[in-house]
Amino acid sequence: MNIAGLLKTATIDFPHRLAAVVFTAGCNYDCGFCHNRGLLTATDFEDNGEVMRFLEKRAGLLDGVVISGGEPTLQKDLLGFARAVKELGYDVKLDTNGSNPGVVDGLLSGGLVDYVAMDYKAPLARYPEICGAQADGFLETLGLLRASDAEWELRTTMIPQIGREELRGMAEAVGRLPLYALQLYRPVGIEKLRIYTPQEIASMAEDLKDIQPNVFARC
Ligand code: SF4
Repeated sequence: MNIAGLLKTATIDFPHRLAAVVFTAGCNYDCGFCHNRGLLTATDFEDNGEVMRFLEKRAGLLDGVVISGGEPTLQKDLLGFARAVKELGYDVKLDTNGSNPGVVDGLLSGGLVDYVAMDYKAPLARYPEICGAQADGFLETLGLLRASDAEWELRTTMIPQIGREELRGMAEAVGRLPLYALQLYRPVGIEKLRIYTPQEIASMAEDLKDIQPNVFARC
């Protein structure tokens, strides 16, 4: 695993669990709003043995480990890492852009992941413009999540390029979700468009309740 960062304790990254967060390097997308851009080209990695020793020491004190990125499903030994973490007694959460359904399938069918948060970045037709890549794999991964016993959510970072009506179209396109988080966009540079405030995002979430009753603003 190319682990470019380790957050030793996090209270909000894994719902209902106190967790450590492992940030993997590299991504197959190039989102203009990426907050982890430094991870995309990172070449300085944590020693995997050190990370596991840390997790061994914290077993019983932390509830979970979040595997985030970057895009974790690009890591060749992700399943082995998740298995080792599970064997220490942790719950595992995967943060993913949904582009690698085969890897997500391996994690789900192996019982190696307890919670999956998948990004739903934009209307699928706009992925090339917004993420620099087609939305390949998104719908297949969504189908896997629907068929699984794991907890899961979709989440949309409310970048200013997405309008209210467009958001409604996105909410309609994916069927009813167990959880749908609208997240605050924190500017990464000089923004050409006005960003949404937490109050506006809360109001957008309220507006979507007729389509997605389990939507909420994570601001
Ligand atoms: S998918 Fe995530 S990590 Fe990759 S470029 Fe987009 S925001 Fe950054």
